[in-house]
Amino acid sequence: METKVISISREDAEDSGLKEAAEILRRGGLVAFPTETVYGLGANALDEQASSKIYAAKGRPSDNPLIAHIADIADLPPLVAEIPEAGRRLMEAYWPGPLTMIFRKSSLVPRTTTGGLDTVAVRMPDDAIAGRLIRLAGVPVAAPSANMSGRPSPTRADHVYQDMNGRIEMIIDGGPVGIGVESTIVDVTGNVPVLLRPGAVTVEMLRSTVGEVEIDPAISGPVKPDMKPKAPGMKYRHYAPRAELTLVEDREYTGKAVSRRVVDTICSLAADCMAGGRRAGIICTDETKDCYPREAEIRSLGRRSQEETIAHNLFGVLREFDSLGVDEIYSESFSGENLGRAIMNRLTKAAGYRIKKV
Ligand code: AMP
Ligand code: MG
Repeated sequence: METKVISISREDAEDSGLKEAAEILRRGGLVAFPTETVYGLGANALDEQASSKIYAAKGRPSDNPLIAHIADIADLPPLVAEIPEAGRRLMEAYWPGPLTMIFRKSSLVPRTTTGGLDTVAVRMPDDAIAGRLIRLAGVPVAAPSANMSGRPSPTRADHVYQDMNGRIEMIIDGGPVGIGVESTIVDVTGNVPVLLRPGAVTVEMLRSTVGEVEIDPAISGPVKPDMKPKAPGMKYRHYAPRAELTLVEDREYTGKAVSRRVVDTICSLAADCMAGGRRAGIICTDETKDCYPREAEIRSLGRRSQEETIAHNLFGVLREFDSLGVDEIYSESFSGENLGRAIMNRLTKAAGYRIKKV
């Protein structure tokens, strides 16, 4: 299959490219498109055959459900059995935006889209291109991240091209995304909302809107074989670069400057790696980038205090290390609060929970 790439700017009101993309979606084909979080791989969420093509293109396990994207709050009621009060308040506060909510599904939504579950994940993205595309398609658009299953999520159209060229009909290039980590996921089907995946709508923000919010244990620790995480995606190795990633964390980290202990440990791990003739990559911050051995591939995610920048650059740096072919990656760690919770969740998963505490 030939994959067509079209470029569209958010300011451009001309919709001819988007009309073609919407027509592909209506015919049951696959189109990758930008959202404010990461690039999504879209198909008609109400068409069983179309959404099953997403699993095939990504190599995604069939029990890992998709998120249905809508363009207007009015598009939600047909997809769900009910809208609980907490869901209503959260959507009023954060839609359009990087928040996905889990509802009990209506009979309209096929089980292929929901990975066999009776619930459906829905989000209204805050991106002009995504919004216009969904509106033109006239259907909810199922869209997981547009990467091959297990690889870091794409934050630029060329990342999508690396993974999806020849596997999908079209890629819409809308430039780099804004946020860079996937949406927050909250299950609102129970009495107390449960955070299933941290993102840019932080748990602190959720609590300020609805009070109590529980945090699913699968967010912070490895998922044991007998554990059934509420977001099935959490049990798969995810966001993973090809090299082995080790996260180095200070036991007494205060959330501010990175300690000398962390820098020294990364220096010695990288030196050992390179002494064995292997290539080392280091993920650090502007404050420490000059502290590491020059022979290593050193990438700063930005200033430590600017979590938005760190989140924005994270997946791109993991992909860059893949193309450079480094063998081992060593990363500084970050605070686990606010957006830092999402950053640390993606990093610990990318590391397969290999965390060296010093
Ligand atoms: P992705 O968009 O690729 O980041 O994947 C979508 C994420 O949403 C996965 O982690 C899924 O497990 C999660 N998800 C989608 N639908 C549901 C659902 N009905 N219940 C729980 N988690 C879901
Ligand atoms: Mg994904």
